[in-house]
Amino acid sequence: MSMSDVSEKPTRCPCCDSYLDWDQAGEVKLLRCPQCDGFWVARETMAQIEALAMAEAISPPASDVLKEPLGSDARPFLKCPECGELMRRRRYGKRSAVIIDVCSAHGTWLDADELQRLVVFIKDGGFEASVRKERDWLEALLEKEASRMRLDSTRSLNSRDGERQAARNLAEALLPGIYRALG
Ligand SMILES: [Zn+2]
Ligand SMILES: [Zn+2]
Repeated sequence: MSMSDVSEKPTRCPCCDSYLDWDQAGEVKLLRCPQCDGFWVARETMAQIEALAMAEAISPPASDVLKEPLGSDARPFLKCPECGELMRRRRYGKRSAVIIDVCSAHGTWLDADELQRLVVFIKDGGFEASVRKERDWLEALLEKEASRMRLDSTRSLNSRDGERQAARNLAEALLPGIYRALG
């Protein structure tokens, strides 16, 4: 037994506590639960899957377990199989129908058919679309901020002009009196 075998303790399913088995999706290695058919995807592996899906170079293993719709929203939060911390639940790519459980340090838990749906979402351009949408939103925000600042600087310029004009008006109004007083 090598050192790496010793240090690699078996990973358990966050849903049913079964030991996860290694599985292969193309060139990507994943841990899969033999019981509930979910996948544990390590952080680095997720980026690899996203890149391959965008290049349309991955077909995830089909699942025979059908997930009940919206089941993942209703069930309790899952613990990260690596560190035991509660994972955050979020919608993948903001607009997809895939709800994932994420430990930002270790990886992502995907229920039975979620890996497949995630890859389909990316292949259909959903991932790029959501990135594009986010960038557009940010650009619009920056543009709005920039024009607000332009407006502000015009306004303060105007008000400085106004102040100067008011001071001139006051001086003009007072000067005759001052001259008269000086006689
Ligand atoms: Zn399981
Ligand atoms: Zn973790």
